[in-house]
Amino acid sequence: MEYSTAEELASVAFITMGCAKNEVDSEHMARRLVQSGYALSDDPEAADIVIVNTCSFIQAATEESIEAILQVADFDSVANGESKLVVAGCMPARYGAELEGEIPEASGFVACDRESDIVSVLDDLLGIERLSGDGLVIPIADLKDNCVSAYVKISDGCDRFCAYCTIPYIRGRYHSFSQHEIFDEVNHAVGRGAREIVLIAQDTGRWGSDLSPRSSLAQLMSDLADEWPDVWFRVMYIQPEGITDELISAVKEHDNICSYFDIPFQHANERILKSMNRKGSGTQFLDLLARIRKQIPSATLRTTLIAGYPGETEEDFDELCAFVEDAGFDYVGVFAYSQEDGTKASLLDCQIDEEEKAYRAQNLRDLADSLSSVRVADRVGSTIPVLVCGFEEDGQLYGRAQCQAPDVDGVTYLDGGNPGDIVTATIDDTLLYEMEGTMS
Ligand code: SF4
Repeated sequence: MEYSTAEELASVAFITMGCAKNEVDSEHMARRLVQSGYALSDDPEAADIVIVNTCSFIQAATEESIEAILQVADFDSVANGESKLVVAGCMPARYGAELEGEIPEASGFVACDRESDIVSVLDDLLGIERLSGDGLVIPIADLKDNCVSAYVKISDGCDRFCAYCTIPYIRGRYHSFSQHEIFDEVNHAVGRGAREIVLIAQDTGRWGSDLSPRSSLAQLMSDLADEWPDVWFRVMYIQPEGITDELISAVKEHDNICSYFDIPFQHANERILKSMNRKGSGTQFLDLLARIRKQIPSATLRTTLIAGYPGETEEDFDELCAFVEDAGFDYVGVFAYSQEDGTKASLLDCQIDEEEKAYRAQNLRDLADSLSSVRVADRVGSTIPVLVCGFEEDGQLYGRAQCQAPDVDGVTYLDGGNPGDIVTATIDDTLLYEMEGTMS
């Protein structure tokens, strides 16, 4: 088949598993496809091609992705060969050629590092030959219309090689995207109505260290905040080493940079952290939090922790719980340790049984919930800016304050405002992580 850009090609539906970083990758692939003549479909069962963008950083995520793949393989259109199934993302990167034998229903595989080739992969599947001059542009941010919040990826890969983590093997070595590319993405998202940009990556705090000339996350955040003063900027996943005085100052000096620090500490016991191939100790982490609070007393603090890491004794777990009590986090994400093939931690001989890991993780979650809900309740009576996001299925208007990151921290229910507005609201009530506000 020969193709010119005036024609419309096949329809493509995406099913995206995993985290926001994968959502961004799907958006990138979707944009490339649309710019190359493909149509997007919201209905996987009716689409000509279904791309399952998989997540595989832990076994549970892999199993969910396999389930999604098998569901698509069961579609009549796929089973009878009318539609094609393509498996993209982390699973092809992690399992390589082995996967092709395991999933014969799939017509194509696109690993993370080949996602920019998605058009040629689909063209090959459909036997399309393009006329010369069908150029592509660098893909940008979220495609969704009326989206008041957009994720923008600022780098990919990771060089830290935490002992339990598969990401460096799946996503490859760390590399920053250029400031120019990031500005293009933000510009595009803002042009589509975004009032909040959430910067994400596996290791956001390292941004700019590999660029020439070198730059820093603090510099990037300041430049973005100055360029778009009416847009909120938020950054997620800053490793402890990435919290510099320069970054804290940049947050403090800009009202439109959310005073929100998402720092994945993972544990507090020094021996466990060392075994994880991570630096620091609970004491050092508490000092870091104090340093942030000294500059920005109202800063929102979020972390991620792992319970049941190999060799974690009951005393070590108690130390982790005590750390959570002392730190005063606003939000805590807790994961039970997952033993992943190919990682150093999976070879340690002091693995903890599944039941005990789940028990510790739930205990830690319960502790964090009980502490954080009190902090959230302390916001009652405060008057704060809230970004109006839209309506819940039951028609309730909701937004998010700067202390609430999308998808993880709950929302603020409102009595007025239009999606995309930043309104001022007084918090009247809270329920666990949700807040309720009245417009001032
Ligand atoms: S910093 Fe994060 S992504 Fe990188 S190896 Fe450690 S846990 Fe994995």
